[in-house]
Amino acid sequence: MATRRQFIRISAMGAGAVLAGAAGIKLFASDLTDGQKATRAALTARTPTYCEICFWKCAGWVYKDEKGEIKKITGHPEDQHSSGRFCPRGTGGPGMYTDEDRLKRPLIRVEERGSQVFREASWEEALDHVAGKMKEIIAKNGPESLALFYHGSGGKYFTDLFKSIGSGNYAQPSFAQCRGPRDVAFNATFGENPGSPENTDIRDTRCLVLIGSHIGENMHNGQVQEMSDAIDKGATIITVDPRFSTAAGKSKYWLPIKPATDNALLLAWIHEIIYSEYYDKKYVEKYCSGFDELKAHVEPFTPEWAYGITTIDPTLIRETARAMADASPAVIVHPGRHVTWYGDDTQRVRAVAILNALLGSWGRRGGFFRLEGKTIPSYPHPEFPVPQKSWREWYPGQYNLADLGVSNVLIDASIPAEGRDAMIKGWIVSGTNLPLTVPNMEHTIKAMQNLDLLVAIDTMPMEITGWADVVLPECTYLERYDTLRDSPHRKPAVALRMPAFEPKYETKPAYWIARELALRLDKGDYFHFEKLEDLLDWQLKQMGSSLDEMKKAGVKTWNREVDDLFFGEGEDIEFYTNTGKIELYSTALENEGFDPLPSYTPHPEPPQGYYRLIYGRAPMHTFSRTANNPNLFDLMDENTLWVNPRVAKEWGLSSEQYIHLENQDGIKTDFPIKVRVTERIRWDSVYMVHGFGHREKKLTRTYGRGANDTKMITNVMMDPVMGGTGMRGNFVTFVTDIKAEEVAS
Ligand code: SF4
Repeated sequence: MATRRQFIRISAMGAGAVLAGAAGIKLFASDLTDGQKATRAALTARTPTYCEICFWKCAGWVYKDEKGEIKKITGHPEDQHSSGRFCPRGTGGPGMYTDEDRLKRPLIRVEERGSQVFREASWEEALDHVAGKMKEIIAKNGPESLALFYHGSGGKYFTDLFKSIGSGNYAQPSFAQCRGPRDVAFNATFGENPGSPENTDIRDTRCLVLIGSHIGENMHNGQVQEMSDAIDKGATIITVDPRFSTAAGKSKYWLPIKPATDNALLLAWIHEIIYSEYYDKKYVEKYCSGFDELKAHVEPFTPEWAYGITTIDPTLIRETARAMADASPAVIVHPGRHVTWYGDDTQRVRAVAILNALLGSWGRRGGFFRLEGKTIPSYPHPEFPVPQKSWREWYPGQYNLADLGVSNVLIDASIPAEGRDAMIKGWIVSGTNLPLTVPNMEHTIKAMQNLDLLVAIDTMPMEITGWADVVLPECTYLERYDTLRDSPHRKPAVALRMPAFEPKYETKPAYWIARELALRLDKGDYFHFEKLEDLLDWQLKQMGSSLDEMKKAGVKTWNREVDDLFFGEGEDIEFYTNTGKIELYSTALENEGFDPLPSYTPHPEPPQGYYRLIYGRAPMHTFSRTANNPNLFDLMDENTLWVNPRVAKEWGLSSEQYIHLENQDGIKTDFPIKVRVTERIRWDSVYMVHGFGHREKKLTRTYGRGANDTKMITNVMMDPVMGGTGMRGNFVTFVTDIKAEEVAS
């Protein structure tokens, strides 16, 4: 069995490789030289932050040396997200600050979109230009014809800007391209969703089931650490994945499922748990509705039925169902994070939620805890105007269960459709590289070409900045104050991010940019404080703290006030569903005309000579945003294509060989990708890490390295429930005829 040390070794290696200088300092030795003592003293000068390299937002400390240069960044010991440790990519995060390819000053396009010709501008000129264009669009088409796409902490202030002008058309790709189906499915079942970070009590679990969830590769810091603890305590790990992932390597059971058949396995597990009477009868009786309907529904879905679909042996299906039941209620069938796969994703995650309900794990130790957060007070401001039009009108009556904006619908609504003009005329895009984030890049480009205004706010030149009319350079998370991190967790807590450095070049924080635009749009009343630190201090004082206290503490944690971490024995609970119960049979889905109980729908198989394209994460990178980070680039500079040896033999492929890929629609990769022949992938699929294959030449390190999976995803399978973009229904074949000069040196 894997030990905790083995599991997290990659984290320690990553940290050492990134900041070897800091690691070499003898912090605990008594025989320090004077120089080392001075360095040690300087190292105690620390600044609180929370990491921006991924959405986990681990709180930590930034340490600088006597020259004021960064020496290291570490986790905050009292932080529930990080437990005192940063993951490799978080440790390498400061590369975002030092990257000399950063955007340095505002840019205004001087030639038409698609060509990279900009001139530098002052902030005054750039902001006047953007605000002037926004006014024109608002006057002609209404405020709702402006759309905001955002990711990261700065988004809060741009959404406030949008609310102040009367547009509700804002969206984060992290909903429709990532976790939306999960949130909708859990809302439909439990009346609430797992949140971010998820409310999984992994540290006390006795059985963790991962279905296509790559904990350990996707470095969700707290979860990785808790999973290591759980493994050490003997928890059973069950991993369902066509690929032998890092998590599969730590698992008692690896189920190498045929891709696109997960629903069949889940239904067979539900069948087995009900018909073998493994379910938690007291819990189901007290808290759940729709059990009889569910029991009748899954009657035909036996393990033998699922075998023919999934290729998983019925004995193994029964054995793993038994393992879950033995651990119940300390069992987690993990809700996953990136769950937009095949278009029936809400229904698949509904099956996951139902399994958890049957096993009695929601609200139980070792299952799912109750989240509690701190409400950050809002400074009094005028009521936001009510938008007169919404993205929802683009597809009337659809996606009613999506409780957040759907980014791909905003993109669709930017292209004129039969008989109607485009609803969206201008985009502000903050911290998200849409062409590499939303599938079907050509469609996104078509939408961008239709716009009257495209503004990109980012720290780095990206594909999206290449298409923008105006580029506004944001400073990095190490150079700015940001909104207080208030994510709910086991205990309510807030974390402060403050600048460790002055902003480099002519970069500015999101709050400042949003406020300056608001002032120019006569919406200054919504941005009362000139400086964000004054707003933070006001907010903290309402909460019984202050900015001064937080500068020293970094993180402040309160005791729970609302309820206990887990359900009490026999506690009466009203769930936020239509029936007040955990809905095994979903009335919310039924009311919208969808199946109230999940089913299995067959999906197309790869044509002869093609393989299903599966993509995932690496521990040292986050999406396409970190590919050029000098620290993280040193750890991983390109992605590779995993190919099964049987397939490699058939095609005459060998490891280290570069090839192109072509998908079912004839779309070819821009740059070649290196083959990795490995038994760790099924013969019917290939796998690559997402986020490479940049064609933005200003990214001098990563340009032209590896392949871009998003470009190959042209068959998008829409989730009819919430508008998510299923991206795993794409097939690729190999193009081996490549020229030597195509390979980046
Ligand atoms: S998990 Fe890693 S990258 Fe993400 S916020 Fe935490 S330290 Fe940063």
